Amino acid sequence: MLPVLAIVGRPNVGKSTLVNRVLGRREAVVQDVPGVTRDRVRYRAEWGGRPFVVVDTGGWEYDAKGINARVAEQAEIAIELADAVLFVVDATVGATDADERIVTLLRRSGKPVLLVANKVDSPRDEADAATLWSLGLGEPYPVSALHGRGTGDMLDAATSLL
Ligand code: GDP
Ligand code: MG
Repeated sequence: MLPVLAIVGRPNVGKSTLVNRVLGRREAVVQDVPGVTRDRVRYRAEWGGRPFVVVDTGGWEYDAKGINARVAEQAEIAIELADAVLFVVDATVGATDADERIVTLLRRSGKPVLLVANKVDSPRDEADAATLWSLGLGEPYPVSALHGRGTGDMLDAATSLL
């Protein structure tokens, strides 16, 4: 069985864009409208010659109701089934209450977690990423899923957790 890397985070932080970056092709659906990915979607990926499965999830929202509750449930299942988790935060927004709650859930899971500070499109955005040390998950990896900035280093670190 291939190791599994789950991608979780609030809606619209760039999870699906990051999945496409990992895959090197546009397969995960990216939308400006939050909440497009509803289920867990599995893709076969490879990095540094190592194959693994990457799982895209819908945005995890605390206290979600209706469809959002089911999307959140899927994200929780994805964490349970994963060998390691990429927790994606929007560095341009910073850590929100919802992000803090996801951290609690991740801690409870006991899974190895890599904190990804996304939307760091240029060097001047790196200071935004550094504020995410406050989440207590260790070093935030600044990336731009959109442009590919920093994703190589981040994937080196992520795959070393698998
Ligand atoms: P998801 O809901 O977390 O899967 O987020 P998506 O991947 O669908 O992206 C949500 C929006 O953020 C889209 O408009 C993306 O183009 C945009 N986005 C994703 N990654 C980046 C990034 O690195 N930089 C910038 N500026 N925008 C991004
Ligand atoms: Mg998505």
